[in-house]
Amino acid sequence: MATITVIGSSSMDLVVTAAKRPEAGETILGEDFKSVPGGKGANQAVAAARLGADVYMVGCVGDDPYGEAIVSNLHKNGVRTDYVKSVSDTSSGTAHIILAEGDNSIIVVQGANKLVTPALVDDALPVIRESSMVLIQQEIPEDTVEHVSELCRQYRIPLLLNPAPARNAAESILANASYLTPNETEARLIFGETSIKQALEDNPNKLLVTEGKNGVRYHDGKKETVIPSFKVEALDTTGAGDTFNAAFAVALSEGKSLPESIRFANKAASISVTKFGAQGGMPSRDEVERELL
Ligand code: ADP
Repeated sequence: MATITVIGSSSMDLVVTAAKRPEAGETILGEDFKSVPGGKGANQAVAAARLGADVYMVGCVGDDPYGEAIVSNLHKNGVRTDYVKSVSDTSSGTAHIILAEGDNSIIVVQGANKLVTPALVDDALPVIRESSMVLIQQEIPEDTVEHVSELCRQYRIPLLLNPAPARNAAESILANASYLTPNETEARLIFGETSIKQALEDNPNKLLVTEGKNGVRYHDGKKETVIPSFKVEALDTTGAGDTFNAAFAVALSEGKSLPESIRFANKAASISVTKFGAQGGMPSRDEVERELL
């Protein structure tokens, strides 16, 4: 069984549906409220566990009810939470989402996710060193991502960096990662509009640009190639990238080839977009394998 360590964010998404957005100083009645666990780190951990990997999450929550709910949701999905630290006098990460007039407005409060520090990562070193792969995103401080990339280089542990949300990551981070998985927007921000082709060529079998329903573009050492997505009726694409990254990590850790792993991940992500919610649509191993036959 693949052991995967996910180092990253966790949060509670607080989603209000209303007919309109309130003006400054205005109070209105909303129509509906839901709280759903999210955060790219937690989402990827849950997706990998559902696909059958042995998953450790390294992260931070606040000592508030959201923190308890975040940890219990990870548990329920089979993710090991020994290295998810609850920090006192800190709020858990939250995303405050208003759905109104066909669009969303979001305020993200990082809270405890700011406290995912290099020292916290060092506490988890025993499991990191035993992992077949480490999975990380950019909703935690950059010095932590840099530290993880150094550790993975030093201990020769494959590192999958999902550079989302995009920021100008240090060259060393990009160099130390074994795989980079930006979506098209993130790839443009990181490499520049005109340089993606060159970046693909410079990073063969490493840089994978996910292009939503079109598939995944990479350079195989000889030529640029696209592995197409599976055609589905998409209901909600939230978390598609998270499912893709987790499934890709699981498949690679189990020894599948790069193209096979992309195909497996495309299948898992295509199932996830047919259901509502980021974690709501993440498939089990059986669902993916049944459909891949
Ligand atoms: P993100 O969710 O990070 O913006 P993408 O939109 O590129 O990233 O989606 C990630 C992956 O999810 C794609 O590579 C693809 O496998 C799958 N996917 C996303 N949207 C669709 C869709 N409409 N139909 C089928 N698969 C999809």
